[in-house]
Amino acid sequence: NSFRDFRLSEEIVSALEKLKYTVPTEVQAKVLPIAMEKKDLVVKSQTGSGKTAAYGIPLCELVEWEENKPQSLVLTPTRELAAQVKEDITNIGRFKRIKATAIYGKQPFERQKLELKQKSHVVVGTPGRVLDHMEKGTFDVTRVKYLIIDEADEMLNMGFIDQVEAIIQKLPTDRVTMLFSATLPEDVEQLSHRYLKSPTHIEI
Ligand code: AMP
Repeated sequence: NSFRDFRLSEEIVSALEKLKYTVPTEVQAKVLPIAMEKKDLVVKSQTGSGKTAAYGIPLCELVEWEENKPQSLVLTPTRELAAQVKEDITNIGRFKRIKATAIYGKQPFERQKLELKQKSHVVVGTPGRVLDHMEKGTFDVTRVKYLIIDEADEMLNMGFIDQVEAIIQKLPTDRVTMLFSATLPEDVEQLSHRYLKSPTHIEI
């Protein structure tokens, strides 16, 4: 019952040791094997379950370091969560030198635009600002292969459904999508039916 059972790279295992993540949490143990096979997922799990690393670890393993355009997009309902996810992914990917960028509202657009011009493997952000950068051409999504919809129920409760759908519709269809949510109300189920490809369902 260790992260080594999941055949992770030495860089990731070392980073997890440094973070004092020794034993995978339940959501991590269930998500990791499926995510590493690049399959779509719907995961019902609470905050505090270790869900961020459950998708953060596979993202850090799967991205190609050499690619200059962003390959992963993580959507979060709040700025606070976006900042936290960016930090977690940076920590998990530190020995692979994975670069994560957070873009969210109430922060200067211009500075984010400059950040998005730098190499970034993972972009984390709130729907309004992410869409804004996509529409202005400052966030190039042509190479995005992984989409994570985090706290989907919260995101829809906050009224972000239109932005979330507009974002998804602009992404390459040849991608992996993982949706995480504490609850699965009708609107979240609909979102997953509409945009995920035969997802595996995991309930914690
Ligand atoms: P999350 O559900 O992603 O918000 O994570 C909840 C907390 O658990 C965070 O403080 C993580 O740093 C921590 N955490 C995540 N995975 C592990 C693990 N395998 N072992 C110990 N702590 C963890």
